[in-house]
Order: sequence, then structure tokens, then C-alpha cells
Amino acid sequence: MEVILQHLTKKFPNRDRKKSDDVIAVSDLNIEIEDGRLIGLLGPSGCGKTTTLNLISGLLKPTEGRIFFGDEDVTQLPPEKRGIGLVFQNYALYPHLTVRQNILFPLQNLKGKDKLSKEEMRQKVLEAAKLVQIDDLLERKPNELSGGQQQRVAIARALVKMPKVLLLDEPLSNLDARLRLQTREEISRIQKETGITTIFVTHDQDEAMSISDIIVVMKQGRVQQIGKPQDVYDSPDNLFVAKFLGTPPINVFDGQVRAQKLYIGKDCVLEVKGVADRDVFVGIRPEGFLLKEDGAFVCKRKGIEVMGRDISVVSTNEASLNSTIRSIISSENKVDTGSATVRFDLRLKKVFLFDKETEERIYFEIGELQDEKEMV
Ligand code: ADP
Ligand code: MG
Repeated sequence: MEVILQHLTKKFPNRDRKKSDDVIAVSDLNIEIEDGRLIGLLGPSGCGKTTTLNLISGLLKPTEGRIFFGDEDVTQLPPEKRGIGLVFQNYALYPHLTVRQNILFPLQNLKGKDKLSKEEMRQKVLEAAKLVQIDDLLERKPNELSGGQQQRVAIARALVKMPKVLLLDEPLSNLDARLRLQTREEISRIQKETGITTIFVTHDQDEAMSISDIIVVMKQGRVQQIGKPQDVYDSPDNLFVAKFLGTPPINVFDGQVRAQKLYIGKDCVLEVKGVADRDVFVGIRPEGFLLKEDGAFVCKRKGIEVMGRDISVVSTNEASLNSTIRSIISSENKVDTGSATVRFDLRLKKVFLFDKETEERIYFEIGELQDEKEMV
């Protein structure tokens, strides 16, 4: 099912009586979600993810804007008429019911022409349980299950009616690191198997990047960027998005553009064609540094961290806004551990410029010659 959000806005009255203005939880969201996709709604705590999901589910009514499921305007429909499945962070299972009864629950409320026979219900519960691989646990109570198993029951319960849209609000937050990894792969598999349009809310960029077809990055109730995870990582539209995606995080510096050259401190680090003289923020991805004896960018060497396949060179620079700079270098590189400085050339496609005021991206031209140098 295609889901379309048009100018969606949600304001809450401010409980703080000294402040008269409303809390704007979600502001003018415009998102089109293609049928059968898994969308990751990503942003820091408080940016409006849950509010957005609750608007789509119908648990909340928007202050402005409309929601379409396909051609149907569902803005005023109550949740039970929308054909959605919901999974929350805390699994919210009924403790006194068995796994089977928990999954069965949504089917028992069906009325009229949707009403199912006992046998049909039994069959659907079994199918949903098989899909999340808990069909051998059907007679247990929730407190006899691990966290990961409980979350699977919650997912089975959301799937049992075969919803048109599946909404997941931070479903993995209560799981430990390994289970989180495993369960997110499961969700990805189930989504592909069923083809149900799924909206997955998380504050974890790694999680969103790994399972989403498309990510929507949000900040303070507003969409910052929408795109394929790799595209957004490779070409962030603003400083917030650049900083929010990637581990280790992007390195940010104060920089100046003078005569189409980019300076960080007094080092002239790049040619930036087509940019007028101005002060900028410079974002450099950790993989954007090339270790080089006569490199243009000079930093103070602090140490080296070996991370399996790669080496991370830790350094400092007066123009750096982060306390340390992390650059990832392939382990074939020799790092001169005797020297107090470390020098880099920069990979053009890993360097982004941002306006100091608006923090919006400033684009520069990448020449062919420079492009080839990248390949080395
Ligand atoms: P997220 O899920 O991204 O952490 P939420 O959607 O829960 O964010 O909240 C977005 C903003 O709206 C926050 O500033 C939050 O305090 C506010 N908010 C959420 N629900 C209410 C409410 N019922 N009343 C007032 N403010 C709310
Ligand atoms: Mg939330």
C-alpha cells in the first residue's frame, strides 16, 4: 500500500503556562512512500518520529495536512479502520495470555463479514507465528520468553491480520546488541517475504541505514533529507544530516574559501571550483583522508587505533570542531609513529562544505583530473 503524507503538521498545547505557544511536534511533512518499501524514519529523540507514526496509525489526528493510503484519504479514519499493524518499543503483550492467545487477540475482534471461523483463526495464528519463527512457543506465557522472543510475538500479533501498513516504533531498543542485530535482519526478511509497506522508526542511524530501502532524516519535526541510505550518506544536504550519519562520525572544521581554494587553518587543502570567497564549515568523512608524506593538510598526531581491517589515525587540529579527528586508513598504510605531525591529502568526494549560517550544503565542481586522483 502506497502511503502519502501531505503537509502533515501536529501541534500540542504547551503545558508550561509561562509559554503560550504550542509545541510543534511535526511540521509540514511531505513524504511519499512507495508500495512494498521499508522506510526508516530516523532522527534524535524528540524530533517527532513517534508523533508521525501515531498520525499514520490514526492514534493522533493532525492539526493540518492529510494522509492517503493509496487513493483513499484516511486522515479522519479511526485506527481500526486503517488496516495497520503496530509494534512498540515495549512489547505490550498481555501477561496473562499465552503466546497463541496474544497473537489471536486482534482476530477475535473482527466483526460482520470479516469474522473468521475458529479453524481460520487457528491457521492465521500459526502462519504469523511461523513467519517470526516462534511456532514452537505458542503455549508459553510472555514472562517465559526472552526479550527477543517477546518482540517476535508482538510482531506476529501486528502481522496476523495481514495489515496494509506495518508501523514499528523503535522495536529493537529493549534488546541487547546481538539480538538487536539478529532481529533487525528478521524484520528485513519478513518485510521482503510479505511485501507489506513498513515504516520503521529509530534514533539509531546504523539500524536505519542497514535495513531501510529509503531513509527519512528528521530534526525538530521537520524532514531534513529523504533518500536511499547510501545516497544520503554520500551526499548530505546539510550539516545536521552529515553529522547524524556515519560511524566514526564526520570530522567538522572551520574553513575559508579564498580564490576557489579551501583553507583549513593556513593549509590549502583543496581546490573548490565555483565557490565564492566565504567562511564555511568543512565536513570530512573518516575515509576521506589519504595518508601522505607531503600531504597538504597537517595535523598533530595523537595515536592509532586498530579496528580489525582498518587503522584509525587519531589526530588534532586547531580548526577542528571535534576534540579529535578520526581518519580511517587501510591497514597497508605505514604510519610514521615517530613524527609529531601527520599529513593527509583529501578525497574530494568525501569533503563537504556547509554555509556557516544556514548549515546548508555548498556544492563545488569536481574536475575530471581530480576525480582520477581519487582512484589511486
Ligand atoms: P520522538 O519519537 O522522535 O522522540 P515525539 O514524536 O515523541 O518524538 O515528540 C516530538 C515532540 O513533541 C517532543 O518535543 C515532545 O515533547 C512533544 N510531544 C509529544 N507528545 C506530546 C503531547 N502529548 N503533548 C505535548 N507535547 C508532546
Ligand atoms: Mg519516540
